[in-house]
Amino acid sequence: MRVDFRSDTVTIPTAEMLEAMFTAEVGDDVFEEDPTINALEQKAAKMFGMEAGLFCPSGTQTNQIAINVHTRPGDEVICDVLSHIHVYEGGGIAANSGVSTTLIDGEKGQITAEQIKAVVKADNVHFPKSTLVSLENTCNKAGGTVYDLKKIQEIKTWCASHNIALHLDGARIFNATVAADYSTKDIGNCFDTISICLSKGLGAPVGSVLLGNKEFINQARRVRKRFGGGMRQAGYLAAAGIYALDNNVERLKTDHMNAIELGKTFQDLSFVTKVTPVETNIVMVHFDAPNTTEKVMELLTKNDIHALTLTPTSIRLVTHLDVSAEQFDFAMDFISKMNIL
Ligand SMILES: *Cc1c(COP(=O)(O)O)cnc(C)c1O
Repeated sequence: MRVDFRSDTVTIPTAEMLEAMFTAEVGDDVFEEDPTINALEQKAAKMFGMEAGLFCPSGTQTNQIAINVHTRPGDEVICDVLSHIHVYEGGGIAANSGVSTTLIDGEKGQITAEQIKAVVKADNVHFPKSTLVSLENTCNKAGGTVYDLKKIQEIKTWCASHNIALHLDGARIFNATVAADYSTKDIGNCFDTISICLSKGLGAPVGSVLLGNKEFINQARRVRKRFGGGMRQAGYLAAAGIYALDNNVERLKTDHMNAIELGKTFQDLSFVTKVTPVETNIVMVHFDAPNTTEKVMELLTKNDIHALTLTPTSIRLVTHLDVSAEQFDFAMDFISKMNIL
C-alpha cells in the first residue's frame, strides 16, 4: 500500500471535485469574463472580509505579485529567516521587484512587533525604505506553526501606525484557523493582503488567491499579466477551488489529529532524537546522525511509505486528504515497529 507523506500538494482531485470542474461555466478571465473565477475570487474575499481577490496559478505568484505591488525597487521587505518568500521563491523578491530582504531570526518562523521595530529603518537617504512586512501562518519550514492572533494584532497596529504594509503568506492559513481560536475574518482584519493556497491541504490541483482591497487588486491584476499569470478559461480550475473551500476546510482537523499521532509514534522510537512539537499537519522528525536518517528513509521507501529528507538529520511528513484511514493505520503500524539496528 503506497502512503505519500511528502507534502500536502500531492493530492489528486476526487470524482466530486472533477465533476465540479467538468460542469464549470467558463469565459476569458483576462477579459474578466470567467464567471467561475469571479465567483471564487468573491467567495475567498468574503471569507476573510476583504474587498477583492485575484486567482493565480501558484502561491509563489500571489506572494510575488503582492511584494511587487507593495514596494518600489530599492525598498526592503522584512520577514522571518524561514519565510517561503525568502527561501523557496527562487530569489524572486530581488529578481522580480528589485527589493532587498531584511531577515529576523524569529521563533518557530514567527516574528514580533518588537523585533520588527528594531530593524525598521529611519527615513534617511542611506537606508532602504522599509515598506513591507510579511508573515507566514502556518510557517512551513518551522513545521506548520500557528501564530497567536494577539501577536499578529500587535504587528498590525505597529505597522499601520508607521505606514508599513502587512502581507500574509497564508498558503496554509486554514490549517491555522481550524487549529487556533480565531477565524478567517479575524485574520482578514489584520492584513493589507493575504495569499491563500487551494492546492495544499485543500486538495485542489492548481491555484492560489491573492486578497486585498479593490485598488490593490486592480494593480495586482496588471502585475499578474506582466508575470505571465493571466489565464483564459481557467474557471475549470477555479471550480476545484470553490469545491475545496466548500468541502475541505473543516476536515483539516483530521489531518492534524493524524499528524499528532504520527509525531507520537516517531517520538517513541529509540533512534529518534526529537520530534518538533506538532501544531498542524506537518511532522518533523530529527535523528542523531545522517546515517540514521538514511536508514530510516530507506526502510520507509522500501515499504512504499514516502517522506521528505529535510536536512541530513531530519525528515518531514505531512498529512493530507489523500492519506485514507486505511493508509494511515498501515503506516502507523509499520512505523511503530520500525527497527533500524
Ligand atoms: C506552498 C507554499 C507557497 C506557494 O507555493 P506554490 O508551489 O508556488 O503554490 C507559498 N508559501 C508557503 C508557506 C508554502 O508552503
